Amino acid sequence: MSSLDSLIQDLVIANRILAREDVVDAYGHVSVRHPDNRHRFLIARSLAPDLVEPGDIVELDLDGQPVRDDGQKLYLERFIHAAIFAKRPDVMAVVHAHAEDTLPFTIAAATKLRPVIHAGSFIGAEVPVWDIADRFGDTNLLVTNLEQARDLATCLGPNSVALMRGHGFASAARSLIEVVRLSVYLPRNARALMRAKQLGGEIKYLSEGEIAARNRGYSPYSVETWRTWEYWANKAGCSHLLTRPDEPPAGTS
Ligand SMILES: [Zn+2]
Repeated sequence: MSSLDSLIQDLVIANRILAREDVVDAYGHVSVRHPDNRHRFLIARSLAPDLVEPGDIVELDLDGQPVRDDGQKLYLERFIHAAIFAKRPDVMAVVHAHAEDTLPFTIAAATKLRPVIHAGSFIGAEVPVWDIADRFGDTNLLVTNLEQARDLATCLGPNSVALMRGHGFASAARSLIEVVRLSVYLPRNARALMRAKQLGGEIKYLSEGEIAARNRGYSPYSVETWRTWEYWANKAGCSHLLTRPDEPPAGTS
């Protein structure tokens, strides 16, 4: 199997996992940068993520336009992915979703979403909130063109997640496994923080040092990371699509 075919299978798995873990529903999407052309990315055609098959994956350029236009309906908000890939050469995978538990933190300015649980560390110490109204006034809140998407990508900056006011979030990472993991734990971290606020008293956040320590210990090739991916893929009913990447040479992970 070619590396492109296995990456497409991984992208299908990512779609199914995000659906099964309630990060996306009929809406929301995940993409991955093309392995042979940094100016293109792969994403499903306009379809609920739980229904995505390898034949539904299309190739878009960094303007969000299809490389081969065969008349397929595309996601309205595909520009989010195009703009983030264009702005961030380090990013290889992007998720956009409307996960309910993140929404309060997009509208309550007094409480910032920050890591409070160990698995939430990957959202990073800084989670900016983007408000489409700041530059674009009254819209339907969807990111439907490149100009809006570039503004969102600017707000994201070097961070891993940007919340979107009254809408959801965009997350970015170095690999599909990482962006899925980050996007699954983002709403869980938000839920833990919200419940802790209800208990009252001082909230104990992860320190900068703890966040850095967790990032240092992370490898997308590790047994622990693969274990999660395999577990989620099996739970989402697509373990038959799993292809384990070759272990990197010692010292590179
Ligand atoms: Zn959206």
